[in-house]
Amino acid sequence: MIMIIKSLHLINYRNIENLDIEFDQGINILYGNNAQGKTNILESIYMCAAGRSLRTHISKELIKFGKDSAHIQLIVSKGVFKDKINIHIRKNNKKGIAVNNVHVKNINDLFGTVNIILFSPEDLMLVKEGPSGRRRYMDMELCQINRLYADDLSRYYRLLRERNTLLKDEKADDVTLDVYDEQLVRYGIRIMDERQKFINEINLKADLIHRDITKGKEELEIKYIPDVSSDKYGKKMLESRERDILYKSTNVGIHRDDMSFNINGYNGREYGSQGQQRTICISLKLAEVEFVKEKIGYSPILLLDDVLSELDRSRQMYILNSIKDIQTIITSTGIDDIADNIGKRANIMYVENGDIKK
Ligand code: ATP
Ligand code: MG
Repeated sequence: MIMIIKSLHLINYRNIENLDIEFDQGINILYGNNAQGKTNILESIYMCAAGRSLRTHISKELIKFGKDSAHIQLIVSKGVFKDKINIHIRKNNKKGIAVNNVHVKNINDLFGTVNIILFSPEDLMLVKEGPSGRRRYMDMELCQINRLYADDLSRYYRLLRERNTLLKDEKADDVTLDVYDEQLVRYGIRIMDERQKFINEINLKADLIHRDITKGKEELEIKYIPDVSSDKYGKKMLESRERDILYKSTNVGIHRDDMSFNINGYNGREYGSQGQQRTICISLKLAEVEFVKEKIGYSPILLLDDVLSELDRSRQMYILNSIKDIQTIITSTGIDDIADNIGKRANIMYVENGDIKK
């Protein structure tokens, strides 16, 4: 079955004053000049999946200049079921989230109401850049499909923040640290297990896709690189304690995990060409789609933010040909090259100054 965003209503969201969008079940294209609001629209959809923006941690920034609050309403359907997500962002107050008019206290309760996979030009740097993006890749996906994981991760990061504050304030004695470390290890090991399982599955799927894109020339192997192994987790934390106190931060744990990518046995991060690294990212994202489909039984919604223009024609075609039975929302400055391929079957919307002109 397929998950579909039926409609999106935005009020005073960034440069958008009041906008109602209805989406088609297949491919939707938002096109227009730079700085018109295309990414803002995708960002608001991302908000409904993740409860926060990818671009900013300060929700006030999402409110249109000069206004006091912003509002997002998204309606998503899964077969005969429909869910309504409301997000109310206020200048002087915490943001309010509701699903089907019921207030969501814990953001983890929102996860999975709408499942999205966002692919943006920054993702094309996933292989090359630092490990935090790769951890986000794992977490964003696992949190959307696995409530226990989301809870463990929130608890882990809360404990980590508290531990780091103790270290900074020089209030960390051995007894207190023992208590923190025991819990960090407990949640850390559970998180590691899930990440390992996730990467094992993604690896199999991404390799098939990667071989397909490269016409059999390249084999891709994705590995999970945990900071410590589960059996040595507690020991390593203890060994690092003196260093932690000295540097006033926690140096061991799942917040230091990473992933690696090998192409034909070589490290793609160090030896891969830019094109190869981009192909890895495409394989990763499309593998994610497959993964979610299997896990939740619905096709997630694919958001492509300006990513096609960054890719050569054959890779563009590969992506466009592989999006079947999945609602897709694409942003782009031009329409010509995309329209050639899919224009006939797409719902095309022109974005100008925070508004849509059909
Ligand atoms: P590009 O093609 O360059 O990616 P875009 O159409 O995706 O452009 P967006 O990032 O969606 O552009 O929108 C950017 C516009 O939104 C900018 O003009 C910016 O000034 C405006 N903007 C951002 N935040 C706010 C806000 N809080 N209030 C009003 N306008 C805002
Ligand atoms: Mg944009």
